[in-house]
Amino acid sequence: MPADDSLETYKRKRRFEKTTEPAGEKKGKGKPFFVIQKHAARSLHYDFRLSVGGVLKSWAVPKGPSADPSVKHLAVLVEDHPIEYADFEGVIPKGEYGAGTVMVWDRGPYRNLKTGDGKHGPRTMEQSFEDGHVEVWLDGEKLKGGYALTRFVGNDDKKWLLVKMRDSEADPGSDLTGTETRSVISGLDLEGIAEKAGE
Ligand code: MN
Repeated sequence: MPADDSLETYKRKRRFEKTTEPAGEKKGKGKPFFVIQKHAARSLHYDFRLSVGGVLKSWAVPKGPSADPSVKHLAVLVEDHPIEYADFEGVIPKGEYGAGTVMVWDRGPYRNLKTGDGKHGPRTMEQSFEDGHVEVWLDGEKLKGGYALTRFVGNDDKKWLLVKMRDSEADPGSDLTGTETRSVISGLDLEGIAEKAGE
């Protein structure tokens, strides 16, 4: 993984004199965590991010996460984001990359589940990412339990699937994105965030 320059794409796409998004100068340290940002861009999606190697590995999930293990949702790998992006909630101005309202929909610590099963050795998060199969236990306010991200086998390495693993936290038939519509940091919904930003 090109850890040293993995934020170059992030920086190249944004004009920091126009957007209030973080410039991404710092590498993050600390305990592994995830964040999910609900993003009302040209089309609404949820950005699923995992801290790995000092940056946020990021996927755009058009339909958002589900707690139902029978539901497989497309997750499109996007550019690495800086760790401090996890705190970003607000409005990206019109005309800028990703223009629209961003909400911190969920966040919390995660645990790498690929720690070996007797047959296969443990994999670090970096290795799992390269393998195209990531398994993590999330301890968020909304999302809990095991989630797997699996890269499509084939010619498009940007396409992955996000699936709830079958465990005690699975909730078949639930509709988390439908019922959970507020920020975990401000308690605001998308309209409230836009209003607060003066949009
Ligand atoms: Mn996004």
